[in-house]
Amino acid sequence: MIELLFLLLPVAMAYGWFMGRNSIKQKDQIIKQDLSIKYSTGLNYLLSNQKDKAIDSLLEALKVEDDSVEAHFAMANLFRKRGELDRALKVHEHLVRDGNLPTKDQQQAVFELGKDFLSAGLYDRAEKMFNKLLKSDGYGLKSLNYLLQIFQSTKDWQQGINHKKQIIKLNDKRLLHTLANFYCEQATSAFEQDKFIDVIELLEQALNLDPNSCRANWLMAKIYENHKQCELACKCYQDIYHQDKDFFPDVIEPMKDCYQRLDSSDDFYAFIKKVYDETASSSALIAYLSFVEEKHGQVRAKEFMLSALKRRPTIRGFKHFVKMEMKHTGEFENKASLDLIKELISEYLKVKHRYSCRNCGFNSQIHYWSCPSCHEWEQLKPVRGLEGE
Ligand SMILES: [Zn+2]
Repeated sequence: MIELLFLLLPVAMAYGWFMGRNSIKQKDQIIKQDLSIKYSTGLNYLLSNQKDKAIDSLLEALKVEDDSVEAHFAMANLFRKRGELDRALKVHEHLVRDGNLPTKDQQQAVFELGKDFLSAGLYDRAEKMFNKLLKSDGYGLKSLNYLLQIFQSTKDWQQGINHKKQIIKLNDKRLLHTLANFYCEQATSAFEQDKFIDVIELLEQALNLDPNSCRANWLMAKIYENHKQCELACKCYQDIYHQDKDFFPDVIEPMKDCYQRLDSSDDFYAFIKKVYDETASSSALIAYLSFVEEKHGQVRAKEFMLSALKRRPTIRGFKHFVKMEMKHTGEFENKASLDLIKELISEYLKVKHRYSCRNCGFNSQIHYWSCPSCHEWEQLKPVRGLEGE
């Protein structure tokens, strides 16, 4: 009998193993069934437009299986795109709370949550999220970009400057350009308080970060002008031309004043002639014409103007031509009609935009250092073409 029991022992073990395996399979099946029920319930809710219930159902499913993470990111981003921020937040917060996600997914969830907070205008919370990712390889640079965007919105320039070390380390051109503008903002405040030394120091920092910052050179020129260091101011204005030709028309007038104060008008006209030859800008043309008129007389100036207008017609150039005609015309000849034409052109130009953003196309009559539409720095420049430069 005992032998029989020994003989049956392997059979009992095999039976136990078989039953155990079946029970695991059954458990797996139950979990899968549960998961698919939650998913289908979620989808049903989604189709019947009961989004909040759908989110709850789908989030429940996530607890069971992490393979669905990508689907949740896609769903949350879709909500954010549609402006349904509370729903996007709910999904991303759920992902952030899930302790079982791989690091890469966990970081993505934190990053996306930061973007949700930013879209909702909750800057302090967004800042917290992006700060968590500063050391991450995949999200460090992107997070720093968003952080600077937050500091720009809150005008907290110093906070941005506190990240200088990391920005220099990353050596990203756009970030360096942004930070240079943060320094320029501080320099502008110092300039308004007439803190000469502070302005120079801040602008030097800006130019170290971005040697091509027209704004820093412009402010530098202004401060030199205010302190009667016109030679240095002229050098800054020339630098602006070499850095950004599109930007230059706006500095022609102050540059002319500086050269005049140095009693070097001839040097100014030589420079402006070069500018006109290279860019055909109408502001450079108008500035140069007064020199031609002074040196070679009105007839020569008019001839020069006509050939310039033929070469590149602009409304501003034509307005100046009418002005020249009015000077030459006697009291009774066509004066009234020329006056009328000039008035009409002035009115026309008044409704036209002087500046356009090279990044997003935003137009404005006033100049802004940061575009009010896309928030890029130093992108608003004088309009080119028939109605502009
Ligand atoms: Zn823009």
